[in-house]
Amino acid sequence: MKKFSIAIHGGAGTILPALMTPQKELVYRAALTEAIQQGSAILEKGGSSLAAVEAAVISLENFPLFNAGKGAVFTNKGCHEMDASIMCGLNLNAGAVSGISNVKNPIALARLVMEKSGHVYLSGKEAEYFARNQGLQMEEDAYFFTDERYKQWQGVKDSDTYQLDHTDKTEQGEKKFGTVGAVALDQHGNLAAATSTGGMTNKKFGRVGDTPIIGAGTYANNRTCAVSCTGHGEYFIRAVVAYDVSCLMEYKGLSLSEACQVVVQDKLVKMGGEGGLIAVDSFGNLSLTFNSEGMYRAFQFAGKPIVTEIYK
Ligand code: ASP
Repeated sequence: MKKFSIAIHGGAGTILPALMTPQKELVYRAALTEAIQQGSAILEKGGSSLAAVEAAVISLENFPLFNAGKGAVFTNKGCHEMDASIMCGLNLNAGAVSGISNVKNPIALARLVMEKSGHVYLSGKEAEYFARNQGLQMEEDAYFFTDERYKQWQGVKDSDTYQLDHTDKTEQGEKKFGTVGAVALDQHGNLAAATSTGGMTNKKFGRVGDTPIIGAGTYANNRTCAVSCTGHGEYFIRAVVAYDVSCLMEYKGLSLSEACQVVVQDKLVKMGGEGGLIAVDSFGNLSLTFNSEGMYRAFQFAGKPIVTEIYK
């Protein structure tokens, strides 16, 4: 079997064993395993990394405990506004959407933007119109409703605080990061990355984080690596995280793990930016790096077992 590798994340944050029940942990691990299987099935057959990351992210979007697709968090107005992006390392093609509602799988829309729109980035109602036009599956608001997210929103909806997913209370309110993402190297040597999120609970004013921003939350280039991020998006935008990892490899000759270490454990930490990323290089090496307590994550190398991890 030729070489391939794939990694996924379901968000970083204060994910501590003490805050988890064994049953819930099993459910998370099963969802991570299923998403890897969806991606690996494509890679095993010689399919593209682009198709593999899209399939893995769709699986995570369909799982209600992650903050993407079904299970996306509530905005201040009580709706769901989702962001997603995808990038192909072979030709640097990219597609992104932000502030979209009612699209079952935002990552599928990001891919259609890349392949069918002649643009890179569409937003809001017009992006939804494009989705309908392309025949993408749409869902009523009720599909995106989950009890857990509703309760989270009830806790902050009358305040000015916003919250990220999977994290405990902080002085700013709860900060949790539950975005999902995938990166892969296929048997043809091509890299791809995909990321999808509901953003932050109680977000206002059309707030958009790093997830749909190429170079911040997502980046892929066959010369270096493919990266998908999760964390406090404002910091990831300012630090241009995904592209910075690639640049450190391209211009300074750092290895994938060295580059991820510099960006996540040094640069972001100094700025106060909590979160992490998954990355794969053109040799198939993986790095799953985070500066928070935990990150839902899983990976697989060709012919090897699937590994799922949650804590540090
Ligand atoms: N990075 C995402 C955002 O800021 C949140 C997350 O990773 O959960 O919108």
